[in-house]
Amino acid sequence: MNPVNPKKYNFCPVCGASLLEKFITEEHTNRLVCKQCDFIFYQNPVPAVAVILQNKNEILLVKRKYPPRIGDWTLPAGFMEYDEIPKETAIRETKEETNLDIIITGLFDIFPAFDDARAHVVLIVYRAKILGGDLSPGDDASDVSFFSMNDLPENIAFSAHREVLATLADLQKLN
Ligand SMILES: [Zn+2]
Repeated sequence: MNPVNPKKYNFCPVCGASLLEKFITEEHTNRLVCKQCDFIFYQNPVPAVAVILQNKNEILLVKRKYPPRIGDWTLPAGFMEYDEIPKETAIRETKEETNLDIIITGLFDIFPAFDDARAHVVLIVYRAKILGGDLSPGDDASDVSFFSMNDLPENIAFSAHREVLATLADLQKLN
């Protein structure tokens, strides 16, 4: 994989001319640059947000309805929209996927994820509590369920979500 152009983009999104790999002196690295309008095409990791909703020894997981990883389980999660702050993403995605209304209670941690074919991801993980709503799978989920931390499904999609669950399990052993 070429880290400068992992998705093999060829054309400038501003003017449509060819993108060329070029050394940017002040940034000490190569970037894709438009040969016509000098637009620099940055390719950065994409922020996503996930939510930990625990009920005693149980945790809420969502079964994926759409690619990638159809049928695998994740925490309620999704990519940030351009005009959102991370907490808004957490609340919106949880509502969309589980129909629950939540309040954020704290930041858990931030995890890098390089195993999603769509993008390199920075996963911001919050802890939250349920305010209301009836638990039911939303448009992009085929199922939602609380699982015992001692009996989680085998097929957890994405390394960052597995890392969150492993970290939670370790914390639980300490308590
Ligand atoms: Zn251009």
